Amino acid sequence: MSVNSLAVGSFYVSRSRSRRGVPPIRMAVRSNIVSVAPFLTKLQRDSATPLPVLRYVADAMTTDMRAGLATDGGSDLKMILSYVDCLPSGNEKGLFYALDLGGTNFRVLRVQLGGKQERVIATEFEQVSIPQELMFGTSEELFDFIASGLANFAKKEGGKFHLPHGRIREIGFTFSFPVKQTSIDSGILIKWTKGFAVSGSAGRDVVACLNEAMERQGLDMRVSALVNDTVGTLAGARYWDDDVMVAVILGTGTNACYVERIDAIPKLRGPESFSGRTIVNTEWGAFSNGIPLTEYDRDMDAASINPGEQIFEKTISGMYLGEIARRVLLKMAEVGDIFGKSVPEKLSTPSALRTPDLCAMQQDNSDDLQSVGSILYNVVGAESSLSARKIVVEASDAIVKRGGHLAGAGIVGILQKMEEDSSGLIFGKRTVVAMDGGLYEHYPQYRRYLKEAVTELLGLEISKNIVIEHSKDGSGIGAALLAATNSKYDHDY
Ligand code: ADP
Ligand code: MG
Repeated sequence: MSVNSLAVGSFYVSRSRSRRGVPPIRMAVRSNIVSVAPFLTKLQRDSATPLPVLRYVADAMTTDMRAGLATDGGSDLKMILSYVDCLPSGNEKGLFYALDLGGTNFRVLRVQLGGKQERVIATEFEQVSIPQELMFGTSEELFDFIASGLANFAKKEGGKFHLPHGRIREIGFTFSFPVKQTSIDSGILIKWTKGFAVSGSAGRDVVACLNEAMERQGLDMRVSALVNDTVGTLAGARYWDDDVMVAVILGTGTNACYVERIDAIPKLRGPESFSGRTIVNTEWGAFSNGIPLTEYDRDMDAASINPGEQIFEKTISGMYLGEIARRVLLKMAEVGDIFGKSVPEKLSTPSALRTPDLCAMQQDNSDDLQSVGSILYNVVGAESSLSARKIVVEASDAIVKRGGHLAGAGIVGILQKMEEDSSGLIFGKRTVVAMDGGLYEHYPQYRRYLKEAVTELLGLEISKNIVIEHSKDGSGIGAALLAATNSKYDHDY
């Protein structure tokens, strides 16, 4: 679908039927598409990701990874050591918990592991959305909220589960913000991302924060593994499949981790790991090299709580795609009359249009783009002509295409780094990239663009062996598995 094929000029759309979400009145929307088309063209040009751009991004990702592995602070990529050098084997046994603090939700999970034969016997989980005010509150308030959720979850067990005598329940704590890990069960918060601005926790050990909150709740549990969500996803996926080498999260924010050779980490000074390998958390959301940016990205970044930071995250992850689109539509409404003469008031509200809205609009295959019209009306109060809706869909597609393509290029950057260091490790054999996060899970066009970039960059032959696979909620089970492998109690696996 191209704007050039649309009727150009002012025209009217009239509706007389009353449908849910569509104004029942007969209305006339005057869209001046001529005035809007140049904005769409410019957006498409500025956000374009042709193969040379993707190749540049993939190569820059590889280079930045090396710089981050060489020295702390040597690159945009922090390349954080996870202290996970023993991946789940399948032999793990017992009752373990996982606690996941993402960006949107917080989840508690109970997992019964039955060893090689029985594997995962049972899992139960509860999910609570994080109240907006806690994102801007104090560290105590946030951790108290988490600990009380955990306490409620544990209380409901009512003695159903028994631990061997003298043991307290062990938790794998998935914390999806940049942490400088100091051991498998401690780590200092570097900064909040994804819109969080919690006071009193930067520079503190997040496990200590949680332990103190659990104590305040009178809850007798212990964190035995602090894991990033990517690391949890890798561990969870690896439990089922030995070929998993990389994990990527595309949800509210984004991040990736991979299995690295200890001898390929110059900045690591300390005891050799038992296995000679460890998981490195790239914190790739901070990557910024060679990313095509538009005026809308720059404005959004300037208005964000972390200007100049997390540029990769701001172009590819769920928290931002809808907001970029809103800014595009606002401009088209203000300068170009896309929704008629007046600018819909709600369109000026930051974050009014969310990534799931873009996704829903892109699933509309009807001739009159009825759902697109309803969503625009319901979400931002915009009345739209068919041509306006087509432009909205094209603008969304430009933003989502760039996001998916760049995420794919990032994955290729990681894979080629691993292959360069150990020829034959990745290319030429089956390699699995475990994917998770709401954006990847729910946005089919995004997934398609991501895979398209990987195939274009690697070529058909190599990419045939690269399996990009959704590992749903793997991070929860992965964190529980890492709590098991790092249990304080004796175990024989
Ligand atoms: P978190 O990243 O907070 O741990 P998730 O992985 O569940 O949580 O991702 C939630 C994010 O995924 C949302 O903020 C949203 O951006 C994105 N998302 C959720 N549902 C959809 C959808 N239907 N289409 C596109 N994106 C979605
Ligand atoms: Mg998450």
